[in-house]
Amino acid sequence: MKIKVASPSINQADVEALNASLLSGHLTSGPRVKEFEQTFADYVGVKEAIAVNSGTAALHAALAAKNIGFGDEVIVPALTFFSTVTAVIHQGAVPVFCDITQTDFSLCPEDLENHITPRTKAIIPVHYFGHSAEMDKIMEIANRHGLSVIEDCAQSHGTIYKGKMTGSIGEFGAFSMFATKHMTTCEGGMITTNDPDAADFMRKFRSHGLEGRNDHTMLGYNYRMPDPLAALGNSQLKRLDQMNSDRIAASEKVIAAIQDIDWLETPIVPEHVKHTYFWCHILIDEDLLGMKTSELIQKLSENGIECRNRYEEPLYKQPLLNANLPEILKISGGDNLPDYGRLFLKNSERVAGSIIGLPNRPDLSETEITRISDVLRSF
Ligand SMILES: *Cc1c(COP(=O)(O)O)cnc(C)c1O
Repeated sequence: MKIKVASPSINQADVEALNASLLSGHLTSGPRVKEFEQTFADYVGVKEAIAVNSGTAALHAALAAKNIGFGDEVIVPALTFFSTVTAVIHQGAVPVFCDITQTDFSLCPEDLENHITPRTKAIIPVHYFGHSAEMDKIMEIANRHGLSVIEDCAQSHGTIYKGKMTGSIGEFGAFSMFATKHMTTCEGGMITTNDPDAADFMRKFRSHGLEGRNDHTMLGYNYRMPDPLAALGNSQLKRLDQMNSDRIAASEKVIAAIQDIDWLETPIVPEHVKHTYFWCHILIDEDLLGMKTSELIQKLSENGIECRNRYEEPLYKQPLLNANLPEILKISGGDNLPDYGRLFLKNSERVAGSIIGLPNRPDLSETEITRISDVLRSF
């Protein structure tokens, strides 16, 4: 038996929406992008949504809309997908790492103020694994220091924090529609905001900085979403709540079957969070288990159980930051640049490499769940 960790959900309605759009004559951004933006904004509960062609482009556009660039610092969590960091560097700003919590693995509000300097302009909390970051505390600190908050919602479509959708709490939400996310346009992204001026800026930014047909009034990019992919997005968005319910149900079943095992910790979800389980994540206590997480993954694989494992190290150890960054940012002497190589954020160090994502496919069978539980118990 081979138990797959995840599988994309593409149905007949998705295929038909895509086909109809392909035959409509609109191949680049057109009416379906407009519709997708409107329905997405309504879903999240904000005034504006701007479709782009990746989650990374969404983060980049939001940073650009706040005019964040050379000499500025942006605070990011030490455990996330690397593009939360590269979007900052693309704008010429300096990423500054903050620790994560030991419960939701998102940006730690208690560590946040340690990293704020006069150069800090924004904070990017990541709603990691479908759990929400502790937004009230983060917003209070951001507001007190006059900082923008860009929520990285690439793993949190439909996640709710104290009655609010993630992506509607900070100044911006940046979503990814990459193939493995809660919903997909194959590749794609979306920015949500209540700021109409920022929305105007980002619509130009994603399309060559064009105003009207001929005037390039600012430095832009080609970050547009093609209409057929927006058609797929519209179709997926209609099913997002259902797909999330399935994800949650499958994850909760797996968790119920394994939560008494002493060498692992299942997700800790407070009352005020609706966790959408991008991953069914468990934290491994390697000492209690008596083996490394990498060894555990190997053994699971030998037993036909696929799982996910990210990220092995806190992001400040990435080669880019420790070798090429001064050159990229051209900061003379590098006095504004953190010495990434010497950073040690204790929660990030502790959990990096020790989190795995167990299978949480909606169609996971009882037999498969029993098998997962039996195999884990055999170690
Ligand atoms: C997927 C992801 C991104 C990047 O999205 P792309 O669409 O792949 O560019 C950014 N941040 C996080 C947390 C992600 O999981």
